[in-house]
Amino acid sequence: MSDLPITPDNLLSEKIQFEFVTTATQAAGILSFEQADETVRRYCQHIPPPQSDSVALLASLGRVLAEEVKADRDFPPFPRSTRDGYAVRAADVAKVPAKLHVLGQIKAGGTFAGTVQPGQAVEIMTGAAVPQGADAVVMVEYSSAAADQVELQRTPSIGENLVAAGAEARLGDVLLNPGTRLEPAQIAMMAAVGKANLKVYRKPRVAVLSTGDELVDVSETPASHQIRNSNSYSLCAQVIQAGGEPLQLPVAPDEEGKLTTLIHAGLDAADLLVLSGGVSMGKFDLVEMVLNKLGARFFFTGALIQPGRPVVFGEIKKGERVVPFFGLPGNPVSVMTTFDLFVRPLLDALCGAPPRRTSSVSARLKKSLKTKTGLTRFLPAILEGGLYDPVVQVVPWQGSGDLLAASKANCYLVVSPAREIIPEGEMLTVVMR
Ligand code: AMP
Ligand code: MG
Repeated sequence: MSDLPITPDNLLSEKIQFEFVTTATQAAGILSFEQADETVRRYCQHIPPPQSDSVALLASLGRVLAEEVKADRDFPPFPRSTRDGYAVRAADVAKVPAKLHVLGQIKAGGTFAGTVQPGQAVEIMTGAAVPQGADAVVMVEYSSAAADQVELQRTPSIGENLVAAGAEARLGDVLLNPGTRLEPAQIAMMAAVGKANLKVYRKPRVAVLSTGDELVDVSETPASHQIRNSNSYSLCAQVIQAGGEPLQLPVAPDEEGKLTTLIHAGLDAADLLVLSGGVSMGKFDLVEMVLNKLGARFFFTGALIQPGRPVVFGEIKKGERVVPFFGLPGNPVSVMTTFDLFVRPLLDALCGAPPRRTSSVSARLKKSLKTKTGLTRFLPAILEGGLYDPVVQVVPWQGSGDLLAASKANCYLVVSPAREIIPEGEMLTVVMR
């Protein structure tokens, strides 16, 4: 990890030029999607690896590995037959049909002490160790056996239907590196090398702070002018999915004193503070002003995207610690989208993993689309269709407050800022959620 301070120069790439903002009052902090993305990814490079914990193998699912995992033996540990059939010397089966003398049988988990000599074969099962002397396996489908004789109808090449000892990995090879996100395949790998317990990085704590006078909790009955706080829940759920530990703070009213107190609480308790609401241009959008008073540094105060334009990213020094924060727009769709685009990569880094790229596919647009130019759009959409012909369709929505539309979607359809009318049938980028 580099310990370079974040400065305009360190954040500047050759390709991407943008203004570095130090106060929220400067208007220059609105970046293109690519610039904002680059800013977050550069910030990630400065995050040191977290502390580690020891956990049982299955408890490591979704966590990030904090140690090197090495092969405790060769893989496979013996030449492994990949078929049921006959272990032979390939040269004996150069001419077919070939008649061989069957010495015996070997199954997975069994052993065979002898050596296959010219003219001999051993009946073998998938997963069994190919006996000495044999250099190929002929599938049982190409054989007919009678008593201790087998007739083989197919000539194998040397090495056919077996994996040589050590072909996958050698004793001592590094199989998994620190920073690897542990999914089922990696869990299987660790089981195979006998890691019943392993070291993973500690989960980052993420304080979630929703702001707004109109908000009441999920268990309350809102008055006609109020709405239930859904953002705290979607954010906490996204934090959990991304491998963090959410800390849901009480809702902050649009009032400076209480907002300040709750921001302090979040900064004290967490490795990352995620706010929702209060970052637009309204009279009661106080979040940036309060953060600014607390000495925040802002890396951007908006991105040319829809939904989520007012998104804010920065950091605050709290005692000896520097805590990054995001101020996400309050609209329920914006909050989820900006989390996916910007918060998740940062959370990956706080988890000790390289920030993930959003996984994207290309899909055929089902129905033509009209938007305005100037913003990169991440529209709630449904991806369906077959393996070789994915089709995407935008969910009709009432804008970035339309939670129902977001809950029907399974992806984002990406529309570049240059586009206005996109005809049916065009191949477009789709980002999976
Ligand atoms: P704001 O960004 O504070 O201007 O809020 C934009 C819109 O999102 C308003 O309609 C808010 O009522 C709504 N909103 C803000 N915070 C939340 C929340 N925590 N849960 C649900 N809706 C919210
Ligand atoms: Mg508000």
